[in-house]
Amino acid sequence: VSVVDAPGSARAGAAAATGSARVVILGAGFAGLSACEALAAGADAAGLEIVIVDRHTYNTFQPLLYQVATAGLNPGDIAYPVRAFLRRHPSVSFRQGAVTGVDLARREVVFEGDGPPLAYDYLVIATGAMTNFFGVVGAREHSLAIYTMEDAIAVRDRVARSMERAATFGVSGGELTVVLVGGGPTGVEMAGTLAELRSLDLAMTYPGIRPDEARIVLVERQDHLLDGFQAKSASYALRALRRRGVEVRLSSAVMEVGPDHVVLEDGEKIACGTVVWSAGVTTGRLAERLDVAKVQGGRLEVTPALQLTGHPEVFVAGDVAGARREQGSSALVPQLAQPALQEGRHAARQLLRLRRGLPLEPFRYRDKGIMATIGRRAAVAELPGGLRLSGTPAWLAWLGLHLVFLLGFRNRVAVLLNWAWRYVWWRRGTRVIAGT
Ligand SMILES: Cc1cc2nc3c(=O)[nH]c(=O)nc-3n(C[C@H](O)[C@H](O)[C@H](O)COP(=O)(O)OP(=O)(O)OC[C@H]3O[C@@H](n4cnc5c(N)ncnc54)[C@H](O)[C@@H]3O)c2cc1C
Repeated sequence: VSVVDAPGSARAGAAAATGSARVVILGAGFAGLSACEALAAGADAAGLEIVIVDRHTYNTFQPLLYQVATAGLNPGDIAYPVRAFLRRHPSVSFRQGAVTGVDLARREVVFEGDGPPLAYDYLVIATGAMTNFFGVVGAREHSLAIYTMEDAIAVRDRVARSMERAATFGVSGGELTVVLVGGGPTGVEMAGTLAELRSLDLAMTYPGIRPDEARIVLVERQDHLLDGFQAKSASYALRALRRRGVEVRLSSAVMEVGPDHVVLEDGEKIACGTVVWSAGVTTGRLAERLDVAKVQGGRLEVTPALQLTGHPEVFVAGDVAGARREQGSSALVPQLAQPALQEGRHAARQLLRLRRGLPLEPFRYRDKGIMATIGRRAAVAELPGGLRLSGTPAWLAWLGLHLVFLLGFRNRVAVLLNWAWRYVWWRRGTRVIAGT
């Protein structure tokens, strides 16, 4: 399969002549891979050639990124090579590259320094989201995001390096203090895990550092944690974090981030060595550059069948899609893994229906619940039908579901081993500084 066309090549003509058509999927995340899987199942019958494009050669299991950032898991444990996925789907090919634009009129995907444009007959945009710094002074320069594998490794390296320095030279200020901005699931999970790292691992590995020298501060703009969860789950998380010694600042916002401090809304300055920004998401630059209708958060406006408004040959799925929770409602589907999987599958099925000349069906989101973990035997889960769990049952449900959804048997075994190592024996095995 050739995945490179000369600029301006007439894909539509080729498709008409041979009866074949090319589908290009942008993004090998939850939505892109689920679209790919559903398309591959009907590709031969529909005469489709499928090309999946991603800047990385692997899929990242984002829900466990914070465990890489806190040295509980290795990066490879939550990365799944796209080419391993292709082994099961010979009708699909892969092109690595950073997409900088889509020429919707010429039906071409444009790359920056990654080869010539790629023509398509149908396109699935599933490029996800990225960190939103909300224009806070110094946030982009001085805080660390947690959205990609590189981000997670950078956080892990920063924390490990500051501990090594403190063990060698002593603590003079706030260099061991970690400030987490944003009290959503990622901030809560990071804070809980860092608190466990401090209380159980610090004394063993760095006997010279006092635990109170390593503060963990979680700053949240709203008056509660875990927005979107029920009040009982939010207050459980707050209690569990405070019990673990996390300083939770509610109704407080970070107004400025410097190289060694943050400044809060009330003027308080907190000296710190690491700032992790998990306060919000926006769509990436690719979506920003597209001159099409957008909805809240810059998400691309789509029809009920998930087609890009005004472009029936383009489907959109996952975090980048502005799909509605219910048709006619203004609320959007949450930017989570389950909706992304469902949208990817739906977009693929509608593309196949379009190809066969069948009427398209609207997307219907099936809410499968939400969960967040605070640490060992402490989690909250809200399941369909109003069932709410907390503590050990929620934690076990969280562990089980994450194992089930992780891609690749090898990864599941590796994660299970690392969790056993950590939660049963309280040992941490992956704290190496990978950067220079
Ligand atoms: C730290 C963190 C924790 C999370 N925890 C949970 C959780 O516990 N439960 C839950 O349900 N959800 C969680 N989420 C959200 C969930 O991971 C996302 O909703 C989901 O990944 C969205 O899937 P997607 O396919 O739309 O995007 P992604 O999975 O982000 O995939 C997008 C893909 O597109 C590629 N890409 C993007 N731009 C380009 C470009 N210009 N060129 C080439 N390739 C590009 C990226 O490399 C990536 O592989 C979490 C997210 C984060 C960041």
